[in-house]
Amino acid sequence: MTLFAAENIAINFGGIKAVDGVSFAVEPGEVFTIIGPNGAGKTTVFNLISRIYTPSEGRLLFEGEDITRLPPDRIAGLGIARTFQNIELFEHATVLQNLLLGRHAHRGGNAIADLLFLPGVRKRELAHREKVEQVIDFLDLQHYRDAMIANLPYGARKVVELARALCSEPKLLLLDEPSSGLNTEETEDMAFWIQDIKNDLGITVLMVEHDMTLVSEVSDRVLALNYGRMLAMGSPQEVQSHPEVVKAYLGG
Ligand code: ATP
Repeated sequence: MTLFAAENIAINFGGIKAVDGVSFAVEPGEVFTIIGPNGAGKTTVFNLISRIYTPSEGRLLFEGEDITRLPPDRIAGLGIARTFQNIELFEHATVLQNLLLGRHAHRGGNAIADLLFLPGVRKRELAHREKVEQVIDFLDLQHYRDAMIANLPYGARKVVELARALCSEPKLLLLDEPSSGLNTEETEDMAFWIQDIKNDLGITVLMVEHDMTLVSEVSDRVLALNYGRMLAMGSPQEVQSHPEVVKAYLGG
């Protein structure tokens, strides 16, 4: 079954059609990437999926369920996690504390039970801790575990943000420009992480990305947008050599 589908989605801001009749389906286990020049509508598509915006037309389906009008706080609980173009971590907390917050979507129970430390609470805490430690090992973050986010180099923060998203055990991981701000070596590392997330954890990835080397290395399929509209969809090679895509990137 298709994991996620956007059907003919659209949204306007003032007179601008930021997203205009976009449809695509993401299959389980694939890395699906959205590319396009600045202002093409890529981030807006992510904001529609995260339910920050509601489309004026079309539908969003997750595991066959219509999520077009679901409240944003229900999205994580479904198994959709997201990273941001501008990293959003708690600066004055440690890596470990940030990752424990990433378990938020899984926190059952209630505040009173937590306060009274009722049976079950400690067991749950240990399970959260164990999952977080697994993610720390998986992304090789042991060295940074107790470091304050504010003291970390930018590249390490990007990996921590990825780790936080993984801590929620998502079925669909939305990566918003994972290579932005990274140098060549860090971008190569990011490509490895994305491939490991797909191959070892079996998590489906929907990504917005500018770096074409990274896109070609990790994507199974690519969708190119321009002015909110679909230009081409297919393998990375097909899309990058598509005449309309070439023209859009050359500013034609
Ligand atoms: P970039 O690669 O520069 O991040 P993008 O492809 O992600 O670009 P979007 O940020 O989705 O593009 O923007 C698409 C269009 O919608 C742009 O013209 C942008 O100015 C406009 N836009 C996006 N969000 C808003 C908003 N909240 N209010 C008004 N206009 C918006």
